[in-house]
Amino acid sequence: MTMSDLAVEVHALAKAYGGIPAVDGIDLQVQRGECFALLGPNGAGKTTAIEILEGYRARDSGDALVLGHDPGRPTGTWRSRIGIVLQTATDNAELNVHEVVSHFAHYYPSPRDPESVIEAVGLSEKRKTRTRNLSGGQRRRLDVALGIIGRPELLFLDEPTTGFDPEARRDFWELIRRLRADGTTILLTTHYLEEAEHLADRVAVIADGRVVAEGAPSSLGGREAGDAVVSWRTPDGVQTSRTAEPTRLVSELAAQYGGEIPELTVRRPSLEDVYLALVGRPVESPSDQGSVGEL
Ligand code: ATP
Repeated sequence: MTMSDLAVEVHALAKAYGGIPAVDGIDLQVQRGECFALLGPNGAGKTTAIEILEGYRARDSGDALVLGHDPGRPTGTWRSRIGIVLQTATDNAELNVHEVVSHFAHYYPSPRDPESVIEAVGLSEKRKTRTRNLSGGQRRRLDVALGIIGRPELLFLDEPTTGFDPEARRDFWELIRRLRADGTTILLTTHYLEEAEHLADRVAVIADGRVVAEGAPSSLGGREAGDAVVSWRTPDGVQTSRTAEPTRLVSELAAQYGGEIPELTVRRPSLEDVYLALVGRPVESPSDQGSVGEL
């Protein structure tokens, strides 16, 4: 792989606050055109890592290149090539949506059309509303609009859909898919595992400032090879069985029942199961609470 294939390249990145490590030796490579998600519990170091890459925090040690440039020495031209959606919302209380988006467009050499961006984030009906009168989720959509108005090559999204209702979250996913299809590289943090699963080509799980797992959401932590959990209803209640051969079990059950198996489900470990195991929390799911059935 050549350098130009990488939008972000990080080696042994470290940052401590008052002697306590927040980022403790992270290696990351994000390819151009990829959507990459950072997952991890509160305080894991995701925002610190992202803000170092955005050029807003100084690192203590390690190497970092973002679009081929050291984020520790940000320049205006480099900043105009990246888009940022921070965790804290932007404050332009007295301006309306259209004014804020148009105003930000002027900071960039080849901005997107403000009206199309307002439409893309679903704020057309609110274009004349002062930002202080927007709801929390609408304000977050405005943040996303400001992140993409400059036509960034690389978009940083720190917990972009916090406060979104389910429909707004689906709309946002669609927008991110379109940006990615346009060639925008996306680096996001999220606490919604479903969001990572929908959007990310690859994810890295960070815990205590270190990367503890990395891979495609479908294969993280050996997920695709994990045992399946088969459950079905019997007269005594729901039976659950963990097995590496679900097809064999289902065939045997089908034969036993002589057809339809009541309330049959077959489930692989979800991204959430794998994530919780990686960050050291016990996995609890309804299917684990039933008794394990023997045939
Ligand atoms: P969250 O999911 O809650 O947003 P995070 O993974 O983004 O968490 P960070 O915000 O990077 O985590 O914080 C990592 C650690 O560094 C935490 O223990 C936090 O308290 C500490 N920290 C972050 N910023 C500062 C700061 N400016 N001064 C001192 N400590 C800080």
